[in-house]
Amino acid sequence: MTDTFTALVLRETDDGPVGALEQLTDADLPDGDVTVAVDYSSLNYKDGMALTGAARIVRSYPMVPGIDLTGTVIASESPDFAVGDAVISTGFAVGERYWGGYTERQRVRSEWLVKRPSDMTALTAMAIGTAGLTAMLCVLAIEDAGVEPSDGPVVVTGAAGGVGSIAVAVLSGLGYEVTAVTGRPETHEYLAGLGASAFLSREEMTEQARPLDKETWAAAVDTVGSSMLAKVLSQMKYGGTVAACGLAGGPDLPTTVMPFILRAVRLQGVESVTTPIATRTVAWDRLGRDLAQDLLASMTEVVPMSELIDRGPSILAGQVRGRWVVDPAV
Ligand code: NDP
Repeated sequence: MTDTFTALVLRETDDGPVGALEQLTDADLPDGDVTVAVDYSSLNYKDGMALTGAARIVRSYPMVPGIDLTGTVIASESPDFAVGDAVISTGFAVGERYWGGYTERQRVRSEWLVKRPSDMTALTAMAIGTAGLTAMLCVLAIEDAGVEPSDGPVVVTGAAGGVGSIAVAVLSGLGYEVTAVTGRPETHEYLAGLGASAFLSREEMTEQARPLDKETWAAAVDTVGSSMLAKVLSQMKYGGTVAACGLAGGPDLPTTVMPFILRAVRLQGVESVTTPIATRTVAWDRLGRDLAQDLLASMTEVVPMSELIDRGPSILAGQVRGRWVVDPAV
């Protein structure tokens, strides 16, 4: 390893955070018991907010953003991780409160890490990242609620985004009939390739919801929130489950209690940041088994870290299709 390495550092200015590539040394890294040579990070919605300064995602500056990372342990004071171990870090406020993955090297706390499944490459792990972990937590919530493919179709909102794309691919791979809601008709072919069998437009799914609409969905993965989540709730079949994880359309929820008290609909919140390690390990193993590699490759673009400052914020405008893996070495 060279003494210096490259990191994307956000510094606070009067005009908001400004990011630049900087040369750092180990002495610049924060406290922690495991040092990782980072192979890849990824771009998530939250990273877009960090890069732009929206929503006060970053708690203090200077900050190395990037809520995900994977790499190889190069120093460890933890009995749980040895030099050479391949590890993944997602969530736990890394890239928000603690320095994150947009760097060639990072020091983290061992309690944030999971070992990368032995047959999973670094590229695959970050093509999945927080978005994929969240999608799988939604799938686990649907399964825990007892919803089976034979119960009826499943709807995924924000389908062409990161969480949505992986949810479509996993659910269709498990045998669910998946309807994709997207504001980008040009992604229909892509989504069909991931396994979606029907499409709805963003416009029709954000029309004001009636308290109860036609019973349509056995389950739902919602990454959008607001009027779209209200519409989905109104269309749930009796006993159906909605896994709600996102707010790409807004944080409000203009609904009524009718779906809950007349159709026994379950609204299950999904949270990936502080998910316990045991649940993460299950989710990562399932992602290794249930997410087809060719589909994951079809939704993944590798982006040099140097381009993130300019291109990263486009995720907030819903312009990123699938997943961007961030290569810190270029
Ligand atoms: P992406 O930007 O990749 O995907 C979001 C998708 O939502 C877009 O691609 C677009 O899909 C759709 N969308 C965007 N803006 C709007 C809008 N105004 N109205 C309706 N639909 C819209 O982000 P991610 O997949 O990384 O994250 C999705 C959401 O999930 C975010 O809100 C994020 O904060 C949240 N999240 C939550 C986590 C948790 O732990 N609970 C973890 C990870 C993410 P299309 O073009 O197909 O319409």
